[in-house]
Amino acid sequence: MRNRLIGGSVDVLVIGGGITGLGAAVDAASRGLRTALVERNDFASGTSSKSSKLIHGGLRYLQQGDVRLVYEALHERQRLMRNARHLVEVLPFMIPILTKDGLISRKIARAFGSALWMYDFTGGLRIGRAHRRLRKSKALSHFPTIVPNRLASAYVYYDARADDARLCLALARTASDHGATVLNHARVTRVVRTGDSYCVTVRDGEGDFTVTARSIVNATGVWVDDVLSTLHNSSSLEDPAAQSSARIGIRPAKGVHITIPWDTVRNDIAVVIPVPKDRRSLFLVPWGPRGDGTFTHTYVGTTDTDYAGSLDDPQCTKDDIDYILRALDNAMTTSVSPGDVTGTWAGLRPLVVPSEKTESGSARTADLSRRHRVSLEESAFVTITGGKLTTYREMAEDAIDALAPSLQLSIGRWARHRCRTKRLDLHGSGRRPRLGLESRIEDHLWSHYGVDAPSIAEIMHSDASLAEPLVPGLPYVRAEVIHAVRHEMACTLDDVMSRRTRSLLIDRAGSRAAARSAALLMAPLLGWNDERVESEVRTFDEICEHEVVCATMTEHDVTG
Ligand code: FAD
Repeated sequence: MRNRLIGGSVDVLVIGGGITGLGAAVDAASRGLRTALVERNDFASGTSSKSSKLIHGGLRYLQQGDVRLVYEALHERQRLMRNARHLVEVLPFMIPILTKDGLISRKIARAFGSALWMYDFTGGLRIGRAHRRLRKSKALSHFPTIVPNRLASAYVYYDARADDARLCLALARTASDHGATVLNHARVTRVVRTGDSYCVTVRDGEGDFTVTARSIVNATGVWVDDVLSTLHNSSSLEDPAAQSSARIGIRPAKGVHITIPWDTVRNDIAVVIPVPKDRRSLFLVPWGPRGDGTFTHTYVGTTDTDYAGSLDDPQCTKDDIDYILRALDNAMTTSVSPGDVTGTWAGLRPLVVPSEKTESGSARTADLSRRHRVSLEESAFVTITGGKLTTYREMAEDAIDALAPSLQLSIGRWARHRCRTKRLDLHGSGRRPRLGLESRIEDHLWSHYGVDAPSIAEIMHSDASLAEPLVPGLPYVRAEVIHAVRHEMACTLDDVMSRRTRSLLIDRAGSRAAARSAALLMAPLLGWNDERVESEVRTFDEICEHEVVCATMTEHDVTG
């Protein structure tokens, strides 16, 4: 990929390999445009691996009156379920109806009922199932640890879930299948306009090189203003002067999740619980099916708070964990302590500050719109931000459409280059293969790799030790490490432990213990010597230790 890019010339260069940038690369490449994407770290290493992993309309946004956002998101949910059937699964959600002082508030129960009817009619029904009311006993069977004397009944509605980082990887591979060059661990350091194109300087581990691009998509999430500054100042990103002139106005909102053992919750579907003394609610989502209706873990999130710390290092703090545990304590009969938390992750929503004075900065980040914004800086430089994981395809279509005039495509030619992603299979889509493995492992491989699953099965068959779990208790097998290096551009141990597999998010201690054996599997494929193996293990260990330390500190201590 690097060799293809050096000194090359493309129609569209996408900066940023999160869901937004990767979606744009797929859109541009599938229209037949010469496309490249560069990501400064790993694909999905920004916000796009740290979401709640829901492919949803967002009931909350409907309650906020953003019907258009919900309608569009539910439409996109359906497209993704068709275009990446292996990656997206239907996820039922239960909203418990709680009593207050022994009484059910009919007003609240009716309000939920009406909101769910609206959700169904705004597009929720496309999933093929309508919401329904559950009796108390049925609700208890789905969430046996809920405080029973406060439970009156519940509603169930249907949304979907996808592993965000795996979705990004599928997009990277789809873009590549359509001829795009996609490069991770390569950072754009300078963008300079030269005549009717851009000269872009890219820096990676081996040095600097340049790429000429007729147009640019700036899809760098919470970092969009940094990239814009280099364009306007013609300076490099390392230049402090370049950092000062923010343009789009991003208001980063931090959201954290924690992972806890499933046995402490025992929810077989996702559950929405209220947060005491806050208007927010939290999702409890079961993760890691064991194949017998039980799961290995449940993740809980998300928070939504203004963030003032380093954009490069959002962390889950003691305050965040306490907030979530308080809500759990209020809702459940079992008690969960900080010591039960097996993993954490924190991400920053790239929310756009509203331009209207009326919706000014005092609004809570939770109330800011999740709609996306496409801004044309110059005729051939588009910045795309805001939005959601779920709406990435629509965002990409809007961004590439905005470049049409600059690419000087006549109406006739543009028709040939029209967007094709509404019905474009993502990499891995197709008929489910039979692998002759235990059904739990087959399910796991299918839901992560789709039609590529046989390639992992083949590695497992070649050496029995590669069929062993990567981290005991988690579904990942050691063969996936090899596949990640050979076929998914995993370059570091963290790439494998955090995004090719998600073991760090689920079980930090187990991942730490497995790190060396994973690095040793990667070493011969990447030409690592002993020293490099040690440095990879050390770096990963430092990432884990940093998470542990931040989880004992207050928000102020960490961001200060
Ligand atoms: P990012 O993923 O941050 O990608 C930007 C990329 O640009 C980064 O990888 C970064 O390394 C790269 N970059 C920056 N500078 C440079 C440079 N100079 N050169 C090269 N690369 C560069 N949405 C949903 O639909 N469902 C959900 O359940 C959901 N839950 C969420 C929960 C949380 C806690 C958060 C924070 C968000 C959630 N979202 C959800 C929203 C969704 O995750 C984000 O909108 C989306 O991931 C943003 O993607 P992005 O590509 O714009 O940004």
